[in-house]
Amino acid sequence: TSFGFRTVKTGDKARLVRGVFDSVASKYDLMNDLMSGGVHRIWKAVLTDRLMPRPGEHLLDVAGGTGDVAAGFLNRADTRPGAAGKPPATATLCDINFEMLKAGTTRDDMATLDGRIHRVTGDAQSLPFPDGFADAYTIAFGIRNVTDIDAALRDAYRVLKPGGRFMCLEFSHPITETMQKIYDTYSFNVIPWLGEKVTNDRESYQYLVESIRRFPGQEAFATKIKNAGFSRVKYENLTGGVAAIHSGWRV
Ligand code: SAM
Repeated sequence: TSFGFRTVKTGDKARLVRGVFDSVASKYDLMNDLMSGGVHRIWKAVLTDRLMPRPGEHLLDVAGGTGDVAAGFLNRADTRPGAAGKPPATATLCDINFEMLKAGTTRDDMATLDGRIHRVTGDAQSLPFPDGFADAYTIAFGIRNVTDIDAALRDAYRVLKPGGRFMCLEFSHPITETMQKIYDTYSFNVIPWLGEKVTNDRESYQYLVESIRRFPGQEAFATKIKNAGFSRVKYENLTGGVAAIHSGWRV
């Protein structure tokens, strides 16, 4: 596969991805804010909003990185009307990269959630959890990095309880030509430049841009989710399709 700046064999993708996130882990949260102008926070808030977290539920956040989605889920479950006095929601953060999980433990906003988030290293394609482990499964900006997307979707189905919800937030494809043009200019110029300035690693951010372009379109990805067994699959475009939330139910 060509990633634009260097050529790697498909089997090397997992190693490349691990290297990418090792190299950016400590600056990861800062880069997300800089690259998206803070908009990723809004997208993640929409994701947790749609999930409607409840007290007592267990979330499995795969490719969870430093823990934005898990923290949002728990905070939202806590502030739900009638939550007081009920058993709190809990979360498992699973990521293939230990450095990303570790970088999340020192975040100020994690202090109050300590003990309710378990961090586990593991691969989305073959999760180290039993069948029916979680009430909800989320993956935000993670599935694009997985070598075998269909395998990851099948394993998402396996680890959900019947009645459980799958939700994926991922970069997608702008829905208008104008948006696509603005987006191309930004992603091919600004993002690698920012990567170089902030993390001294232009290549990792070049990889990010390439991987977004390669990711299936909204409809094609929805079909993959259906093929993994999920019901009532739908998607919602965010910021004109720059990102999308795909969801489905395990019935
Ligand atoms: N979900 C977090 C967020 O939205 O801020 C982190 C997203 S980050 C762009 C992608 C994460 O996916 C990285 O932490 C990386 O280590 C992880 N990752 C990549 N391939 C993975 C795999 N096969 N299984 C689990 N995690 C993976």
